[in-house]
Amino acid sequence: VTVERAEVVVVGSGLAGLRVCVGLRRHGFEGRIVLLGEEAVPPYDRPPLSKDVLLGTRDPASVELRTPDALAALDLDLRLGVSVLGVDLAAGEVLSDTGRLGFAHLVIATGAAARTVPALDGFEGVTTLRTLDDALVIRNAFAGVGHIVVVGAGFIGAEVASTARQRGIEVTVLELDEVPLGRVLGQTLGAGFARLHREHGTDLRLGVTIDRVDLDGRRVARLHLTDGTAVEPELVVVGVGAVPAVDWLADSGLQLGNGVVCDTSLRASDPRVFAIGDVCNWPNELFDRRMRVEHWTNAAEQGAHVAREIVDGAGAPFRGSNFVWSDQYGVRIQFVGVSTDDVVVLEGDPGAAGGYLAWYREGERVVGGLAVDRPRLLAQTRKLIEEGSTFAEGVDALEASSG
Ligand SMILES: Cc1cc2nc3c(=O)[nH]c(=O)nc-3n(C[C@H](O)[C@H](O)[C@H](O)COP(=O)(O)OP(=O)(O)OC[C@H]3O[C@@H](n4cnc5c(N)ncnc54)[C@H](O)[C@@H]3O)c2cc1C
Repeated sequence: VTVERAEVVVVGSGLAGLRVCVGLRRHGFEGRIVLLGEEAVPPYDRPPLSKDVLLGTRDPASVELRTPDALAALDLDLRLGVSVLGVDLAAGEVLSDTGRLGFAHLVIATGAAARTVPALDGFEGVTTLRTLDDALVIRNAFAGVGHIVVVGAGFIGAEVASTARQRGIEVTVLELDEVPLGRVLGQTLGAGFARLHREHGTDLRLGVTIDRVDLDGRRVARLHLTDGTAVEPELVVVGVGAVPAVDWLADSGLQLGNGVVCDTSLRASDPRVFAIGDVCNWPNELFDRRMRVEHWTNAAEQGAHVAREIVDGAGAPFRGSNFVWSDQYGVRIQFVGVSTDDVVVLEGDPGAAGGYLAWYREGERVVGGLAVDRPRLLAQTRKLIEEGSTFAEGVDALEASSG
């Protein structure tokens, strides 16, 4: 039997997978590109799922990343509803539930899947939020519930809580850590977001987790918490992070470890294979450490980077600045770089309303920035971090531009 072949096979039809295809065509690549995706719907955008889509102010159909015409213009062999089950590196083929497909270049863009809480697995009235289907389930549930519990006060948990409050739903948030967003923003600045939750009527419980569950049939009736209290949610939304989607690569021989282990240019342990987006683990020269980033801009930029690599093979390093935004309770939070314990507030007051800018230092360098309702200052911060600026140079640049 002859196996079908394509010059580029992309596995995963999310943002990163789409962007590598867009980049290839932009660079004049005319070869055959097969884009394989497990979800039945064309590539769509996830950030609105926890925001406008849940709020009910945005038509779920509008989250598509490309209109049907724009997608057709890319001239892709787009195959949706296809689960890729493995890679045969010796043969240079991927194996899916629809057969084998040969590649010259393989791009892994399978993203991440929502992590679950074992104590709640499989029960009714419990959901994670990763896909459009998940968002529609929660949106429908929001129409009929009076009280929800959100497990985890990370970005997605906080956004779900905020949206539910806007819809007049009572919200209890359970967070194991002593501050919300501590893992990303650090303990000092994370603390301020506890106040934001509480000011908007969210019952935020810190340092608390689920001890045991009372069931009513298959439904969760009551959650007993480790602080001795109990809550009776009508819906539980679990937002406790994501795990890179690499199960299908277990027997591939590719090096794995918190994602697909890549080199500086995003090449995996086989030179024909790249990984991009939430699934990619690479040494980021900008911060001198291995990173796996679960943010929108990183997925888009890594897709564009690998498109260039496939076309010119230059082996250029991908230097990502790890930018992320989040909208909570009418406030825009933007973060770039990495957090440290050495925090300096440059503008505004994290303890008060009205927004602020803070930087994270590492030695002489500014390595991270957090802005609350200060988009212009964050854009400047991002540029300074990408340039490897010292703290002193950065402060001068900010002052110069503020006139
Ligand atoms: C609710 C929500 C809100 C977010 N909000 C923000 C935000 O405000 N700001 C921000 O910066 N980031 C945000 N993010 C993160 C951002 O959306 C992700 O970083 C981005 O989607 C990553 O893109 P990706 O293409 O790497 O992975 P994904 O978007 O996860 O796409 C991967 C695709 O691969 C498919 N796939 C997986 N395994 C297989 C397989 N074996 N075979 C075939 N297909 C497979 C999956 O079904 C999926 O469609 C949010 C994420 C979520 C879930």
